[in-house]
Amino acid sequence: MRRRGVSGVVKHLNMIRQAKGKTPRRPPPKKPSNTQKDPVGVYCRVRPLGAEDEECCIEVISNTTIQLHAPDGLKANRNGEFKETQYSFKKVFGIKTTQRELFEDVAKPLVEDLIYCKNGLLFTYGVTGSGKTHTMTGSPGQGGLLPRSLDMIFNSIGPYQAKRYVFKPDDKNGMEVQNQVDALLDRQKRDSQTTVPKTPTTRRIDPEFADMISPAEAFKADGVDEDSSYSVFVSYIEIYNNYIYDLLEETPFDPIKPKWNGAGTPLRNNTEFIPPQSKLLREDQNHNMYVAGCTEVEVKSTEEAFEVFWRGQKKRRIANTQLNRESSRSHSVFIIKLTQAPLDADGDNVLQDKNQVNVSQLCLVDLAGSERTSRTRAEGSRLREAGNINQSLMTLRTCIEVLRENQMCGTNKMVPYRDSKVTHLFKNYFDGEGKVRMVVCVNPKADDYEETLLVMRFAEMTQEVEVARPVDRPICGFAAGRRQRNQAFKEELTRRLEDRGGPVTGESPTVLSQLLQSFPSLPASEIAGPNDDVTLPRLIEALEKRHKIRQMMVEEYNKTANMLKSMLQEQDGNFVAKENFISEQRGRLGEKDKMIQNQNNEIDRLEKKSKMLEYKIDILQKTSNIHEEDKRSLQHELDSREQRLQRELSDKRRMESRMQGIVSDTKLKWEKECERRVNAKQLEMQNKLWVKDEKLKQLKAIVTEGKSENRQPQRPSREKDKVPPKRSVSPSPVPTVPPVRPLHRRSHSAGGERWVDHKPTTNVDLDTVMQPNLPNAIKVTAPSEKALSKCDKYVLTHQEVASDGEIQTKLIKGEVFKTRGGGQSVQFTDIETLKQENPASASRKRRSSESGPSHEGERKDGDWTDVETRCSVAVEMRAGSNLGPGYQHHGYPKRRKP
Ligand code: ADP
Ligand code: MG
Repeated sequence: MRRRGVSGVVKHLNMIRQAKGKTPRRPPPKKPSNTQKDPVGVYCRVRPLGAEDEECCIEVISNTTIQLHAPDGLKANRNGEFKETQYSFKKVFGIKTTQRELFEDVAKPLVEDLIYCKNGLLFTYGVTGSGKTHTMTGSPGQGGLLPRSLDMIFNSIGPYQAKRYVFKPDDKNGMEVQNQVDALLDRQKRDSQTTVPKTPTTRRIDPEFADMISPAEAFKADGVDEDSSYSVFVSYIEIYNNYIYDLLEETPFDPIKPKWNGAGTPLRNNTEFIPPQSKLLREDQNHNMYVAGCTEVEVKSTEEAFEVFWRGQKKRRIANTQLNRESSRSHSVFIIKLTQAPLDADGDNVLQDKNQVNVSQLCLVDLAGSERTSRTRAEGSRLREAGNINQSLMTLRTCIEVLRENQMCGTNKMVPYRDSKVTHLFKNYFDGEGKVRMVVCVNPKADDYEETLLVMRFAEMTQEVEVARPVDRPICGFAAGRRQRNQAFKEELTRRLEDRGGPVTGESPTVLSQLLQSFPSLPASEIAGPNDDVTLPRLIEALEKRHKIRQMMVEEYNKTANMLKSMLQEQDGNFVAKENFISEQRGRLGEKDKMIQNQNNEIDRLEKKSKMLEYKIDILQKTSNIHEEDKRSLQHELDSREQRLQRELSDKRRMESRMQGIVSDTKLKWEKECERRVNAKQLEMQNKLWVKDEKLKQLKAIVTEGKSENRQPQRPSREKDKVPPKRSVSPSPVPTVPPVRPLHRRSHSAGGERWVDHKPTTNVDLDTVMQPNLPNAIKVTAPSEKALSKCDKYVLTHQEVASDGEIQTKLIKGEVFKTRGGGQSVQFTDIETLKQENPASASRKRRSSESGPSHEGERKDGDWTDVETRCSVAVEMRAGSNLGPGYQHHGYPKRRKP
């Protein structure tokens, strides 16, 4: 009762404050504009190579870059691609990274956001076996991101948790605050249903996952609002074949339902397996997506939460086994909802105002394996399922692509979130309802190379998408520190009660009792009799006194209240000013943040550029190396060609000098030959000259014959030894003149001599009576060796014009010899001269032979006649000679030794 008095005072004050409207409502803090964007944070985790794998195709180059290299047997180069490719991420975690380190970098900021009323989405992406589940859930002894997130949440909000059932899901994605009575009733109902001990510390933890949670390692978020109450709700769903299943749904045994598969395999706990019913996606009034009718379990500790998760996990395993599904093809989504609402002004209970309840959620998604269908070798309906799973990952890829394009090109294409459940469920995140992070898991084994390449490309593209930064939620309108004051008040109360030594129901007795004591005590009010006029007036007086005191007290009270009010107003004013100052500072901070962000972006851009340039340099280096190599080989070739050229040049020079030698030799030879011929000609001419001289002399002698018969012609001294010319029809051959070379005379055949009758074509038929009779002769127009070889005699019919103008025919005869060289040689032996004479013109008869030599014309052929006495002339033709019909006439003057 007394407590109501004090709280009544406060309420009264509140009433005054609100009624008079003098305390202005705190203006909502300035919202930072929602134009700030953050790229999707993409992290890469490389798991260790399995024991059975040998070849590794991934190398961690730095803490932001990995390099993929094609395994040896792969034709990765067919498109001219480089064998090595590098991919950069926000951070790369190598094989030695611990789960704690990963959590600190990747999930801790999301949990902090969750506590500050911001949403977060974290998913693991990669090929089956790349470590997605290891990263998200963990392995025995190594809790993953999920249990660690739960640990951090409970470690942070532990003392500020609301009692169970204070918050209640409204099944429309929102939360309601239950009144205390309902909450209490619900709690009692729960206690009566379950047999589990209430305190989580004493609860037995399932040993199956006990070592996956490690509260000792838990992080703690700063800045938890002490004046708020928190509650955690979890849901666990599975998306398989584009159907959503609630893994936490309680499915009571339903005897009416037909048995699954006809067999109705009894489970461990003796319940029939009932295939789960798929759930639908809905949009709430804030356009946020949620799974309609999805179970949300309120949990009060990490252990409890993880137990719920594990229950879902088991259910998932059983369903997959029963329905013959492959768990690597399903996406699992664990949703942690954190509900917070401010305490009321007393700091005692949660404010009963639905609008003041804030709900933030963290979605932890373990996506299906990203491998292509071909790899899983699925058939029939499972192929279709696999197709759907691929479809949902494909849709995710498409959505990311469209988002990126919209952001980069300023387009406004529709993002096809609705094409698959996974993207539809998370569309709000990409529209700026929270932070998005992705851990790309990779197995470095060579078998996965091609799949990993696709994963890397997707991951690189994803980090180019920017998501709007979630705005800060406005905080409630009460002054801070309510919980603490309430706590302090309660403590003080207990202390004072203890001071009074005894439990008194009600609050602070001292103030009220003191007040009561200050009133004058009432006089006795018993009336003695009908004429007792003392008691009543005394009572009236006392009451009046009391009334006066009361009025004084009210006045005092009002005065104090007014004072308090003005104080409060002043404080409020201060508070508002401070608040404004804070929001101003926040604005500045935001600007600074923006600047830093811009600079960071610039740094990122430059880093990317420099990486790109490094890459280009590398390529150029490679190209230049190739060119260098080419140059070297060309140089080499050039050198060898030059050498060859030099060699050929020197060969040519040698050849030239040799040719020159030959030419000069030949020249010399020919010069000699010419000289020799000239000499021969000279001799011949001299001979002719001499013959003419001789003839002239003879002529003179004949002329002078009549004058002196005794006179003998005189031979020139140089011709003394020569045989004087005989006046005969045919001068006989000189026996002293041997053939030029030892020739061998052809033996005459039994049939007599055989002639070669040589008549040059220039001869004219003269109709002479006397013709040489040469039976069996071979007639030729030019002498041939063939003809000569068959005969032993040779005759040349030669015509010339004599001095008197008549044609003179000479028959130059000779014998044919075989030369040692195998050729034929003719040695002239005889000349017959046949001459026609016109009797009228002939004054004097002469023997034809006499006039011949004396009137010889200039024709050299005629010179034969008289020279034969002194010269031996041979026509020599060598075997194989190609000099043709031009035979050589050799005139050798026969000289006696002086
Ligand atoms: P996924 O979920 O991608 O198919 P899992 O998480 O099931 O792959 O990993 C497959 C196997 O590899 C598991 O036995 C897991 O323990 C192991 N593994 C994965 N990542 C790591 C890691 N980083 N360190 C040690 N073992 C790992
Ligand atoms: Mg897995």
